[in-house]
Amino acid sequence: MIIAIDGPSGAGKSTVARLLSKRLGFEYIDTGAMYRAIAYKAYLCNIEINEANEHVIDEMLKTTAVDYYNNNIYLDNKNVEGLIRDEHISIGASKVSALKNVRAKMVELQRKIAENKNVILDGRDIGTKVFPNADFKFFITASEKTRAARRYEQLTASGMTVEFENVLSDIKLRDKNDTTRKISPLKKAEDAVLIDTTDMSLDEVVGTIVNAIGGSDVL
Ligand code: C5P
Repeated sequence: MIIAIDGPSGAGKSTVARLLSKRLGFEYIDTGAMYRAIAYKAYLCNIEINEANEHVIDEMLKTTAVDYYNNNIYLDNKNVEGLIRDEHISIGASKVSALKNVRAKMVELQRKIAENKNVILDGRDIGTKVFPNADFKFFITASEKTRAARRYEQLTASGMTVEFENVLSDIKLRDKNDTTRKISPLKKAEDAVLIDTTDMSLDEVVGTIVNAIGGSDVL
């Protein structure tokens, strides 16, 4: 069974998806971490991410291995989970995810990892592109300010020093990149359930999804 959770940055998708995966005993796949891993590799290789460098990034891709298992992201067989959450990698991921071959490689990988499993995937294009026939689709969003505040809390709690205004402008920039790119832009799948979490607690969001899933006779 496939559960797709899409939505803009900072909406709380990964927190919700992780909790759900524990509750339902499903595997969790953080597809954003895969684009972050590619952006991190470009950073390590000193490659600036832009369209002019697309061929350089394509070459880099040929010798780049990304994998995701046990809630951790691996880049070239190294666990990089703790190295990909900085804001400059967030922006890099947003830029790199607009490139055709990067997307093709990641989508293929996501389908392969999810094969024959009960999985929850979160991202931007899971319900529209990666698994258009997913059993359940949710589109989780919240106001810009709420998303920036949640992201700010997450970053400061993990020990990073950041300014709220910078986090807010990064969220705006990523929203713009993600919704306006040519390939698989962020948008709600027509058949996805929209959940605006601006005034909802985490428990309420998880409860809403569990109810929606439990309301069907599939589980
Ligand atoms: O979800 P997260 O913030 O970690 O994703 C990082 C970036 O990766 C997003 O801003 C988006 O540009 C890109 N992404 C994507 N498609 C996905 C998941 C993430 O384009 N399925």
